[in-house]
Amino acid sequence: MSRFLAPAYQSLVPYTPGEQLNDRTYIKLNTNESPFPPAPGVCRVIDEARMRSLHLYSDPTLAALTGALAAHFGVSPKQVFCGNGSDDVLAFAIMAFCGKGGSLACPDVSYSFYPVFADLFGVNLTQIPLAEDFTIRVDDYVGIGKNIVIANPNAPTGLSLCVDEIERIVASNPDNIVMIDEAYVDFSNDTCVSLLAKYDNLMVVQTFSKSRSLAGLRVGFALASEAIIEDLNKIKYSFNPYNVNTLSITAAAEAIKEQAYYDKCVAQIVEQREKTKQRLAGLGFALTDSKTNFVFARHPEKKAEELYRALRERGVLVRYFSAPRIDNYLRITIGSEEQMEGFFAELMHIL
Ligand code: PMP
Repeated sequence: MSRFLAPAYQSLVPYTPGEQLNDRTYIKLNTNESPFPPAPGVCRVIDEARMRSLHLYSDPTLAALTGALAAHFGVSPKQVFCGNGSDDVLAFAIMAFCGKGGSLACPDVSYSFYPVFADLFGVNLTQIPLAEDFTIRVDDYVGIGKNIVIANPNAPTGLSLCVDEIERIVASNPDNIVMIDEAYVDFSNDTCVSLLAKYDNLMVVQTFSKSRSLAGLRVGFALASEAIIEDLNKIKYSFNPYNVNTLSITAAAEAIKEQAYYDKCVAQIVEQREKTKQRLAGLGFALTDSKTNFVFARHPEKKAEELYRALRERGVLVRYFSAPRIDNYLRITIGSEEQMEGFFAELMHIL
């Protein structure tokens, strides 16, 4: 730390992203990326003409992308806000609606970036314990009078609440924002986009990083009431008006047109996920009923950290969290059939 870091940030513990190692070829099952490339049309759209346009700033209104998303989800373009990944969107939202001294509640086991954002922006965070089986107890959120962020499906547990349960939380906290982070929702059937027409305190956040095979492009978005989106834009235009670059806007807008391709990819991942669950259970692992593109698994005898290290040595990257309650679990991204065969071959060897 330099002598110059502002006192407010000196005790900040930053988010730790999954390893992106290049020292050898890995079977990479640690950051929930898609094993499939982006849709063919997306690969074609970044052409020389587009590159030659880069001497100009990107469109700060992102009209091409907000328009495509609005048409896709059946909302007005004024109900769409885009960011440089959904992390960017979540940061803007927590800054805008919780702010210094404001409130935020989230599950104690969830996306580990939420507490970091709360700390960064001086927000009073309440972490609400999950039940013993890692489910979210909906009653714990009913009428709590705090802003709320819930990943649905939750990560790293993979468990999902149904739309009715989300609605109970949103309806019972009318004077607070409820942010539903749907990063993995395309692998479940539980999107609460339909609730947007009914509730002005709901914000739904999604990403192009998982089901749309564009983690490296960095595009995420929020859908909410026009007033909420106006507030997000107020913060964005006070911080970084060009937060999404021209290539990302172009490619993401194209990806929205390629739903049939992505539906096929998602179906294959879901099939592979169910097979992976069965195979791991057959090896004695305890698993949650994940509705995402990863599984969350614990071996009855082998310590998760040991398994993680042994797999890493053998060229397979999975995610291990040395955090309370989950330090004996591994989060394993669902890869291609070939990657999963490779994973199981190494796992069997270790076991
Ligand atoms: N929310 C959840 C629950 C996640 O797991 C992730 C991925 N790390 C994100 C948001 C952020 O994804 P991105 O910034 O790539 O859109």
